[in-house]
Amino acid sequence: MHCRTMRLTRRIVHSSLTCPSPAPALELFGFRAYYGHMTTMHATTILREVMDERPDEFALLTRDFVNREFPRYLEEAKRDPHHYPHELMVKSAEIGLLGLEIPEEYGGNAVPSLQQAAVMEELARGDGGLGLDILVQNSLTAFPITQFGTDAQRARYLPRMAAGEVIACFGLTEPNTGSDAKAIRCKATWDATKRGWIVNGAKRFITSASAATVMVLAARTGRPEERGRGISVLLTEIGPGVASVEVADFDKLGQPGSQLCEVVFQNHFVPEEALMGARNEGWHIIESTLQHSRIWVAAQGSGIARHAMDEAEKYTHEREQFGKKLADIPDVRNHLRIMQRQVEIARLLVRKAAAHEQAGDEQFFVWASLAKLVAGETALWAAQEAMLLHGGMGYTKEMPISQIFADSAVIRIYEGAAHIQAKIIGKHLPGKDILSLLPPSGAFLRDARDFPSPADVMAEIETWEPSPDSSPTTTG
Ligand SMILES: Cc1cc2nc3c(=O)[nH]c(=O)nc-3n(C[C@H](O)[C@H](O)[C@H](O)COP(=O)(O)OP(=O)(O)OC[C@H]3O[C@@H](n4cnc5c(N)ncnc54)[C@H](O)[C@@H]3O)c2cc1C
Repeated sequence: MHCRTMRLTRRIVHSSLTCPSPAPALELFGFRAYYGHMTTMHATTILREVMDERPDEFALLTRDFVNREFPRYLEEAKRDPHHYPHELMVKSAEIGLLGLEIPEEYGGNAVPSLQQAAVMEELARGDGGLGLDILVQNSLTAFPITQFGTDAQRARYLPRMAAGEVIACFGLTEPNTGSDAKAIRCKATWDATKRGWIVNGAKRFITSASAATVMVLAARTGRPEERGRGISVLLTEIGPGVASVEVADFDKLGQPGSQLCEVVFQNHFVPEEALMGARNEGWHIIESTLQHSRIWVAAQGSGIARHAMDEAEKYTHEREQFGKKLADIPDVRNHLRIMQRQVEIARLLVRKAAAHEQAGDEQFFVWASLAKLVAGETALWAAQEAMLLHGGMGYTKEMPISQIFADSAVIRIYEGAAHIQAKIIGKHLPGKDILSLLPPSGAFLRDARDFPSPADVMAEIETWEPSPDSSPTTTG
């Protein structure tokens, strides 16, 4: 099964992006080595790639998997939101969903950004919370280990992560430190005798930590006033049965398939070889991981928005009022068109961010922030509009839309809340009309014909040039 997926994905990548410059071996599994050396793709090539309607075969395979497997695990998660879906993760691994960042030599089936985004969108279209479990295992953990880990760290963790045997988590946020992530306090003190660090402090809102046995941990190894220059990244084992680490789950509003945890370290020993990158220079690992992972979160938002749209279309084609299907009433049809347009803009922005990253554009992070901002706002908005189109039934737990609504709200919060993305965008795309990309308020009062088409919107955005400043304000 695994091999089948690998063959499939390899073929897809060869039919994927075309680069105007001669490309050294655009090999699927060599993509990451290639990344960074690629000539930036010409704007019109990016636009063509973004507007391409070809369905991604791996994404279609994912859709089948999600339709077949997710409903059962979602029901289980609703009954017990503190239960991690280990069995589903192993099944996901079997079709290659946990190896999307991991090179073949370490047991993965690494695929390029556009394909990662298409797959993530399908996962979230099935369920946002179960999709988040798969996201964390890929973009927040396998990505930094693949990109910045030592050979020994890669060999130790990546094959077992790709197989779903090791669950990993990403520990940045703390009780007193969220958006201002460079202010973290969780302290790692060097012990020269033991040749390792002693970690003390707490991490908050860590997805999957109750199931994880390894954490990509951002810790303070320098002085607090050094901010980003005094942070190191440690790849530490956290449990179960590690007495120096305590993990507790939060109760949360939505996404019952994922767990949100508080992790407390008390004199937790981390050996020297667990350091990723250089001592006190871990901030760039955190920053690179978040910039990359925001495309995944944006795809998650776009997937949730599409799920809401699917439910709105289904319901309005079934429900009758005034002697007609709701979808045949002109006002409702108009409302659906406005939703379809906005959901499509979010999807195209996700593709654009992924295309820029895939092309090696150093400014891709600006498009990642824009995609995350718009997809996050669109997910919540689409869920709300879809709920309205369900009438009273939308407010009951009998209809999937109430769960989608609860799931959608968090996209605008994690991996840098909406205000923070707006700051990054404002810094690099000053004066651009970002508001025009956000969902319209009072959609049921508007006329769909008054809005430009998604294709026109994307053509306009293609004229935007991010400023070359490569020191973004970033955050967890
Ligand atoms: C479900 C979930 C899963 C998560 N998973 C992880 C994980 O796996 N690992 C991890 O490390 N973290 C994780 N997080 C944490 C998440 O990244 C943070 O919650 C997020 O970055 C915001 O930080 P905060 O909660 O401390 O909010 P705060 O930083 O306190 O911000 C509160 C509000 O103030 C706004 N704000 C803050 N500063 C400014 C400013 N300068 N200008 C304008 N507005 C501002 C913010 O945008 C936000 O709206 C998760 C969170 C949730 C809810």
